[in-house]
Amino acid sequence: MDSLPKRDANYVPLSPITFLQRAASVYADRTSLVYGNTIFTWRQTYERCCRLAAALQQLGVMKKDVVSVLAPNTPALYEMHFAVPMAGAVLNAINTRLDATAAAGIIKHADPKLLFVDYQYMCLATESLRDGEAAGSISPLLVVIDDLNKPEETRIGELHYEQLVERGDPEQRPPRSVDDEWDAITLNYTSGTTSSALKGVVYSHRGAYLSTVGLLLQWGVGSEPVYLWSLPMFHCNGWTLTWGVAARGGVNVCIRTPAADDMYAALSAHGVTHMCGAPVLLNILVEARREPLLHAVEVLTGGAPPPAALLERVERLGFNVTHAYGMTEATGSAMVCEWRERWNALPTSTRARLKARQGVSALSLADAAVVNNIDTMQSVPRDGTALGEIMLRGNSIMKEYYKDTAATASAFRGGWFLTGDVGVVHPDGYVEIKDRSKDVIISGGENISSVDVEMALYQHHAVREAAVVAMPHPHWGETPCAFVALEPGFSCLGEVTEEDIILFCRDKMPHFMVPRKVVFVDKLPTNSTGKVRKIELRQRLHGCSQSAPGDSRPGSALAGKARL
Ligand code: ADP
Repeated sequence: MDSLPKRDANYVPLSPITFLQRAASVYADRTSLVYGNTIFTWRQTYERCCRLAAALQQLGVMKKDVVSVLAPNTPALYEMHFAVPMAGAVLNAINTRLDATAAAGIIKHADPKLLFVDYQYMCLATESLRDGEAAGSISPLLVVIDDLNKPEETRIGELHYEQLVERGDPEQRPPRSVDDEWDAITLNYTSGTTSSALKGVVYSHRGAYLSTVGLLLQWGVGSEPVYLWSLPMFHCNGWTLTWGVAARGGVNVCIRTPAADDMYAALSAHGVTHMCGAPVLLNILVEARREPLLHAVEVLTGGAPPPAALLERVERLGFNVTHAYGMTEATGSAMVCEWRERWNALPTSTRARLKARQGVSALSLADAAVVNNIDTMQSVPRDGTALGEIMLRGNSIMKEYYKDTAATASAFRGGWFLTGDVGVVHPDGYVEIKDRSKDVIISGGENISSVDVEMALYQHHAVREAAVVAMPHPHWGETPCAFVALEPGFSCLGEVTEEDIILFCRDKMPHFMVPRKVVFVDKLPTNSTGKVRKIELRQRLHGCSQSAPGDSRPGSALAGKARL
């Protein structure tokens, strides 16, 4: 067949902002968003986004400018996921759990033209801007986001979000498509568990579109879902579901914080069908409730390995869990543990173990591999034991690290993106993560997966949280040390001792994997996205505040730490 030229009609740049135009036309009168007493329809959401985009342009925001926002899961943050790129600019949603120094670092690096700040985060923003000004940066123009549910109480500052929405010309519709699907749509900073260096991950319109569609398919999201915003939108743009809910004409139920009471109230008040969160969120759900839900809720979890025991407990409550693995650089999910019909007949604990695996490649990827040598790209055998580094390639991988060509170059090798995660492939082709490369413990030349030891610890009835890190050893080089937080009602002074935990592990694993030391803590240190800060645990062991071994993600993870 002759090759014909691409035409405007059949070659339209991909962008998730088209989902909003479609939702406004298909689901015009259906609720788009609920936030306390505030309710919008898709027609209204589209109009508000058009107005805001027009107002941004009036303020001089130009193509490729960065617009930052510091806000919890509110209507404004949702709308900005469309309005900012509709104005041609790049959205940078900043993690609200950061301290002023960390937020100032991001603002300095992203250098936004405008900074939108939720009224509750004004102190954090002004402190961050003060830090930035002291370091010689020019502050962006500040726009205050008042609370739509109580605007009169929160009117502070000069320029307000709602003023911009009112000011924008509703007739000024955005162009029907973006000029170039490879243009940047968002800038997301990684959560920083692997390195203290700032990594600003740039997504393209194309990558965002494909990731969104792929995740909707793999999670099986049908039309008109009711989606609870328990996952922060600032985390990889809510794992792309900011755009995804519009694509399915769903209802966005916005809550400011994922407190157990607020989540359970929203579940029953709005008939929530879908929600997301890291395993720490599953813990919150389990700890707050004993009786099963009245209707099943689909939960997508990821961001850290979910212990099988936790999956079992949360499913008993009526949550149907889908497990995904991902990272900022992969635009959210990179693998999904796709559920197989034949597994339904298996015993509960086996099902939970299968579900705790990270799974198979995301639909938006062209390929995923687990290799034991990144130079020869030799894949590990499908035996569930041989360790290798997970490599990804496909359209959902980030464009680049913002303003960091060296880091970008070292993240890619031979047409692949290096994840820095170490895993095995099971005979059925499903991947299971065993560690981050820098967290692998090497004891007398043997690799020990800290995740394997943690999963065994979670089987102990009194263990609520567990993290295992390498501890220097004069003979073996490294040995595992476990940090354990006990369930309420248990104490390390009485019911559960270090020796009990060690004896428990001896029953479950080979001798060399058993923790030599157990440190009891009230709570494990976690970062702003709920991941355990193993860097900090290693620092505690080393008794210093400077970086401990492994305190950076090397260009090639395998070359960096794990010798596989
Ligand atoms: P950071 O690398 O700064 O923590 P990210 O939030 O992008 O930032 O974290 C991505 C990392 O989280 C992955 O590389 C992986 O180590 C871990 N991770 C994500 N999902 C899972 C999962 N389902 N199971 C195990 N680890 C996971």
